[in-house]
Amino acid sequence: MPRLVLATRNPHKAEEFDELLRPWTVVPLPDNVDLPPETGTTFAENALGKARAAAAGTGRTSFGDDSGIVADALDGAPGVRSARFAGEDATHGENLALFLERVPVGSALAYVCAIAYVDPATRTEHVVEGRCTGTMAAEPRGDGGFGYDPVFLPDDADVARGRTMAELTPAEKASISHRGIAARALLELLRGQA
Ligand code: IMP
Repeated sequence: MPRLVLATRNPHKAEEFDELLRPWTVVPLPDNVDLPPETGTTFAENALGKARAAAAGTGRTSFGDDSGIVADALDGAPGVRSARFAGEDATHGENLALFLERVPVGSALAYVCAIAYVDPATRTEHVVEGRCTGTMAAEPRGDGGFGYDPVFLPDDADVARGRTMAELTPAEKASISHRGIAARALLELLRGQA
């Protein structure tokens, strides 16, 4: 099957995308390729920067992603700074604690994921985006997922049935998540190239 280089150093992401992008095979980024810092103001900009660096460094078709959570009550923050909401080296727990302090219960949230695809042979570039909307839970619940999942109540009541994102199975999460939606949009784009 054709292979796609994934522009990340995060093994958890590589595993997740490997599953989401079947029948494509996701191959890790070689150690000698440097990724740019996430300095863009949009998810698309950051995703494209990573995919371009991987394509230039390997000469192979590559993709990169960037994701985060946007809160209406914070005018769209933390957005591209989701991993650094409570400080440069903040843990998921520290970010979540600050989020709980600042975001009112019941207010609107959305997870966003941009995936950029770069084929250096044909100089083709595409960016697809997935969004998953929800609301702020009253308190954290669930051990699944990661990051802000324990306080994210998905709007999709058919799947979530009142549970937070951290209480869903991985398959349930993938069926409604920003990453799952963006990955399916990328698959649609790649259709016919396999
Ligand atoms: P990145 O795409 O690795 O830059 O992720 C940015 C940050 O967004 C993560 O560290 C999390 O804080 C948050 N985030 C992205 N996707 C999710 C998700 O599916 N659940 C919970 N938090 C997420």
